[in-house]
Amino acid sequence: MTHEHEPNSEAEGGPENDRTVPDAADAAVHATAEESDAPPWSQDERERPTARILVVQMGHCFRTSGATGTPGEQVLVKAVAETCAEELGKPGPPGSEPWHLRVIKADEPVEQYAGDAFVAFHCDGSTNQNARGASVGYRNAAGQSLAQAWKHAYEQHGWSGGFRDDNYTENLKNYYGTRKAVEVGNQRAFIAECGFLTNRDDKALLTGPGGVNRVVRALFDALGISGSP
Ligand SMILES: [Zn+2]
Repeated sequence: MTHEHEPNSEAEGGPENDRTVPDAADAAVHATAEESDAPPWSQDERERPTARILVVQMGHCFRTSGATGTPGEQVLVKAVAETCAEELGKPGPPGSEPWHLRVIKADEPVEQYAGDAFVAFHCDGSTNQNARGASVGYRNAAGQSLAQAWKHAYEQHGWSGGFRDDNYTENLKNYYGTRKAVEVGNQRAFIAECGFLTNRDDKALLTGPGGVNRVVRALFDALGISGSP
């Protein structure tokens, strides 16, 4: 769910800035295997200009007030981020382009959005239990292109819940995460609503075996990151 663009939610000191889980900052950031002891966004990372940076935002994590998401959403997007970290931690084929992962929570300084690709992962929720489908939102052609590639790969990997129109709600279109990413030059930015947790069939796809992996594989395919299938 993307409540984040609501007028008051971006104000300093508002729900966006709630940090009621003091240890979350440490727990949420994954380094790749090469740098497992390094702090996130370390000097070391900046000295390696050939590595690309993938920024993955865990929707709503780890808010306990304000826009906390639909039930189960934080758990799922956290699992997605953890799987991204595991997969990127594995050594790629020789000569493959190195990617570094930066996992960010819902509330991070804008510079944390900088990189070569940005994805905010979310799941939808509705009082209408029949509402289903994944969807994407983006700000520009670069975001659109990456989002399309993700949708295509998501379906190829077995997402059978269908898709809603791109940017189908104002929330998707105006999502603050993609705005911040583009603001700091990370043009390939999109938000992925991976499906409806309030729909029985979508939920089974998302939370069943391979559900999280499907989300991640689709992203890596879209970015041309090789890894285990
Ligand atoms: Zn959400």
